[in-house]
Amino acid sequence: SGTVALALRVAPLGETHVLVLAEDRTEARRVEAIRRDFVVNVSHELKTPVGALSLLAETVEEAAGDPVAVRRFAGRIQTEATRLSALVHEIIELSRLQVVDALREAEPVDLGEVLSEAVDRARTKAVAREIAIDLGADPGVVVLGDRDLLVTAVRNLLDNAVAYSDAGTRVAVGTSVRREQGLVEVAVVDQGMGIPAEAQPRLFERFYRVDPARSRDTGGTGLGLSIVKHVATDHGGDVAVWSEPGRGSTFTIRLPVAHVPGDDPQDVTDTS
Ligand code: ADP
Repeated sequence: SGTVALALRVAPLGETHVLVLAEDRTEARRVEAIRRDFVVNVSHELKTPVGALSLLAETVEEAAGDPVAVRRFAGRIQTEATRLSALVHEIIELSRLQVVDALREAEPVDLGEVLSEAVDRARTKAVAREIAIDLGADPGVVVLGDRDLLVTAVRNLLDNAVAYSDAGTRVAVGTSVRREQGLVEVAVVDQGMGIPAEAQPRLFERFYRVDPARSRDTGGTGLGLSIVKHVATDHGGDVAVWSEPGRGSTFTIRLPVAHVPGDDPQDVTDTS
């Protein structure tokens, strides 16, 4: 709504005047509401795997005399524990992004290194699902920011591209420079299932999934894209999606460029 919440502070100023300070509380309230929602959602999301774990543990106890069943349930406990650990990891990552000014110590970061590290980390899952990842040529762009956060963002996009694609398809990741805008675009392109148009505006919300059952099967937490968005905006950039069901998806992170080779005779990336 367009209403503005004001906090009024009244201080006496001598005998005849008072000073009235009006402070806009709308933003503070909005942030507080987001935080409250997050806590409610986190509790809800944690209850599911914890509940599953305790049920499975009970079942193992009852199946004690049947080694085959015990092994099967142990495997499922392992799966649930892995999912729980991924969820806790992402919740911590996201709350860290929400509370600290992550970029207080922004440093020059070689985007080519970020991409190849993200690809290395995503490769195990890709190989397991028989999906090839193609890494494009590196134009040698440097951005200002936090290397680890940038790797996490690109890796989250790659993990999604792999998770929501079929075996035998390809995922491509590459960088292109928009010199006139001073921007660099990192695009992750897949040939996967795609995303319906009506779901696209909600993708970057915490815990939003297009298909919760599918996301659960892939070990998804619903937090990956909200982390990507946080990282992009903390770096002064943004993230966009293009997708068509059945034709695949392209996620693009846009970042302000610090250095492009050839732009500056004293370019830091010039190795000649
Ligand atoms: P999750 O952990 O469920 O993957 P994300 O925040 O990373 O959560 O993504 C939110 C939802 O967006 C996913 O559950 C999935 O439905 C959809 N999605 C994300 N990336 C893709 C993609 N490359 N192709 C198809 N759907 C995707």
